[in-house]
Amino acid sequence: MALVTSRAIVLRNHRLGETSKVAVCYTRDYGKVRLVAKGVRKGGSRFGAALEPLMVSGVVFYLREGRDLSLVSQASIERELPELRRDVVRMAMGGAVVELLERLLPDHEPDCELYEFTESTLEVMSEAPVATLDAVLWRFMLDVACRLGYRPELSRCVHCGEDDCGGGSARDGEAGSTAGWAGFSPELGGLVCDRCASGGELEVPLAVGPEAAVLAALAGDDGAVALTVAGHEMTPATRDDITRALGSFLEQHAGRSMRLKSLDFLAQVRRLEESDS
Ligand SMILES: [Zn+2]
Repeated sequence: MALVTSRAIVLRNHRLGETSKVAVCYTRDYGKVRLVAKGVRKGGSRFGAALEPLMVSGVVFYLREGRDLSLVSQASIERELPELRRDVVRMAMGGAVVELLERLLPDHEPDCELYEFTESTLEVMSEAPVATLDAVLWRFMLDVACRLGYRPELSRCVHCGEDDCGGGSARDGEAGSTAGWAGFSPELGGLVCDRCASGGELEVPLAVGPEAAVLAALAGDDGAVALTVAGHEMTPATRDDITRALGSFLEQHAGRSMRLKSLDFLAQVRRLEESDS
């Protein structure tokens, strides 16, 4: 048993018994760990808010090989990212980030790059204009998928392999140039072209249509076009379709029954956004 220190992002917490809680944390140096904080629920916790979700904290804990739970000895806030708590859209986005890591990552597998990318993603979600955050979330989802070894096919049709279906011209930003993609199939793991989809044998449950070009553009590493389709700003419903397509893909490939609750919450927030505008 070793007493170790790491910077960590708190993903989730839940109660344990009468007075303790378990904080699931993504640590920079030890990967995902489950930290038991004793006595925190007796009011006036000595850890304060340091073990609340979406906090970036320094944690000191007893690492025990082969054990699921580690006892936390100290926790202090390193970064608060308060906007993630104040604004409901930002909160929903940040919630999706931490839920993805909580549900998808194996325990005890450190990945410094992913840790840094996650912290900077949360920082952007806390500070950048809300209208740009969808593309930030999509990029994060794609990045996590790639790191876990299941990169979606976004440059050619996942069924027939054709690559002249509009992704390239969408990157040039030409209006109306996005025909060719029928949609995105979470099951097949990529974009499906019109020809394959029109045959009828192929199910394309998420027919995101022209918006599929946005996914192709994201894969092409061009965030600038990510929030427009043929020069028009996307509606909340369209943005939700794309988030749902990527979410279903991750759910599908996670290899166990999984439903990302944060994406339902985000969809609800978006419906409010839509009814306000
Ligand atoms: Zn095809």
